[in-house]
Amino acid sequence: MKLTILGCYSATPRALTNTTSQVLEINNHMFLIDCGEGTQVHLRRHKIKFNRIKHVFISHLHGDHFFGLVGLISTFRLLKREADLHVYGPKGIKEIVTLQMKLADSWTNYNLYFHELSSKESQLVYEDDVVEVHTIPLEHRIYTNGYLFKEKEGERKLDVDLAEEANINVAYYRKLKQGFDVENEDGVLIRNESVTRDAEKPKSYAFCSDTVYKEDIVPIIKDVDVLYHESTFLEKHAHLGPKTKHSTAKEAASIAKQANVGTLVLGHFSTRYGGLEGFKTEAEEVFDNVKLSGDGKVFDFS
Ligand SMILES: [Zn+2]
Repeated sequence: MKLTILGCYSATPRALTNTTSQVLEINNHMFLIDCGEGTQVHLRRHKIKFNRIKHVFISHLHGDHFFGLVGLISTFRLLKREADLHVYGPKGIKEIVTLQMKLADSWTNYNLYFHELSSKESQLVYEDDVVEVHTIPLEHRIYTNGYLFKEKEGERKLDVDLAEEANINVAYYRKLKQGFDVENEDGVLIRNESVTRDAEKPKSYAFCSDTVYKEDIVPIIKDVDVLYHESTFLEKHAHLGPKTKHSTAKEAASIAKQANVGTLVLGHFSTRYGGLEGFKTEAEEVFDNVKLSGDGKVFDFS
């Protein structure tokens, strides 16, 4: 599991800071999460192949989280994209994107699907053989969802040498990977554990931005490997949290602790502060494993 932070600051893009956008690679899938202004430029800078992005998840319709989307969709067309593109986001996202395209008399030559969300309960929005994605209902000034990406339980790992030694026909390898005991060529029952190992523990990632401190999300994100939680403010501006519906670094850490996550990645920093160290220090008062995101930072969680 690899996370590339394309942008992790709030409000407006600046000379040295980008608004929210990140790429999650999990089990050979690539998901784009939020799409602030300039996202396509940052994707190019990171040499991320546009064609590998087939699913875009937008948290909410504040500009710093989706103003890059229509540009990206348009560029895909100019590059003669053929692959389908799926966009998940709040109700209204289809209208906003298609209105711009309609007035420009510009349509995509690839299939563009919108999956509009309006539920206030967590729901499964994407699923295939190896990954599933659930919404995490957040509380912000407008309708907002975080997203939970979960690998599915993988197959058991077969030790081919041991299977050969045990004289098992290759035709049974699939059954072994699925956890069954099988008979070998001599009719002897071979116990599954003697030739296979446990599958690797499935990885999970939760993206939570933007939100006020909200303990309701804890059961949804319980025990995730990595939690990205917004931390717009430091403690000295904690009073702004409930008003603007944002969180402090310490509040993010409290959520991480209650949910027993593996690693907390902080982001969505207000640009009012000189540096980011204060976010880490304040969060570490509550939770041990804290990392700061940064534009261009790549985290390898494999
Ligand atoms: Zn917002």
